[in-house]
Amino acid sequence: MRCVITGGAGFLGSHLTDLILNEGHEVIVLDNLSTGSLSNLFHQISNPRLQIKTVDVREKLDIDGPVDIVFNLASPASPPVYTQRRVECLLINSEAVLQVAEFALEKGARLVQASTSEVYGDPLSHPQIEHHWGNVNPIGERSCYDEGKRFAEALLSAMRLEQGLNAGIIRIFNTYGPRMHPFDGRVISGFVRQALANEPLTVFGDGSQTRSFCYVSDLVRGLWLMGNSNQPGPINLGNPIEQTVLSMAHLIKESTNSESEITFEPLPSDDPVRRRPDVSKAKELLGWEPLVGIDVGLREVINWQIETQRAFSEQIS
Ligand code: NAD
Ligand code: UDP
Repeated sequence: MRCVITGGAGFLGSHLTDLILNEGHEVIVLDNLSTGSLSNLFHQISNPRLQIKTVDVREKLDIDGPVDIVFNLASPASPPVYTQRRVECLLINSEAVLQVAEFALEKGARLVQASTSEVYGDPLSHPQIEHHWGNVNPIGERSCYDEGKRFAEALLSAMRLEQGLNAGIIRIFNTYGPRMHPFDGRVISGFVRQALANEPLTVFGDGSQTRSFCYVSDLVRGLWLMGNSNQPGPINLGNPIEQTVLSMAHLIKESTNSESEITFEPLPSDDPVRRRPDVSKAKELLGWEPLVGIDVGLREVINWQIETQRAFSEQIS
């Protein structure tokens, strides 16, 4: 098969690239390297089944030959990043999704859209099930991302109905693993970096808000299963084991034998109070469930950050 991955030089995209290449297929990565990096794909650079094109997917896509599956992952994903690029975030999740969808239609390809648990906003019911419609502030701190992703879901649903687009929507819950940028502001990569440097672990609010963390290999396996199905979704993918942010800070401090203090900073506005996926639909329709526990996953992140720490500190200095 021949697969296109927009955002393929990012955290999830590079792991999905590895999985598909390891399955023996071809991958064309389209990425403008705004938050991703070619270093995420260096280990595959001489693979003849990989092509990398540095393009902005807001422009019309131009690829010769057939394409079987398009995975649309291009979008900023971290709150401190997208709140610095609000208009860009809205456009990548609207204009660019239209470009990618028209490209998939033209090629007769399956399209998998990376949506997010953020479409549930600050959820009114728990755990989050796909038929819940969400509780999103349309003009709030996170609205560029949440409403952008909701628009993308609406657009692809409309194109499925009116034009027969074979689109499938996956709602991704917090995912972590190696190659998540230690400085992009997301909680696990940030706490591990702080703990390894013996700097304070910065818990926002009192740390009682919850998240459910999925290891990256589980997540990309779910994306691949979705790509090979004709399910429209939306389907949640995530690990249903829920923990408070404060308990994650303690776990990471212990796992790194760190002397860091844990400090408390103001909670950003519209930060969801709790989040846990119901993954029954993924299990039933895709035969998917998460397999990697937090201890194993954290160890991978810690080892990866230790190995790459020096490179990162050189990069930011
Ligand atoms: P990431 O920032 O590591 O990857 C995003 C990639 O998209 C980057 O390589 C970036 O350079 C690229 N990109 C951004 N704008 C682009 C443009 N205009 N043209 C071409 N490329 C562009 O983030 P990630 O964590 O890998 O997230 C990937 C996708 O998954 C995103 O759509 C995100 O919304 C979604 N998602 C991720 C998570 C998570 O926990 N990681 C959770 C929910 C949803
Ligand atoms: N968080 C934190 N300290 C940090 C970064 C994040 O306490 O240094 C909190 C954040 O407020 C949120 C949770 O950790 O409640 C997860 O944040 P992340 O940005 O990783 O993901 P999201 O908020 O998009 O779920």
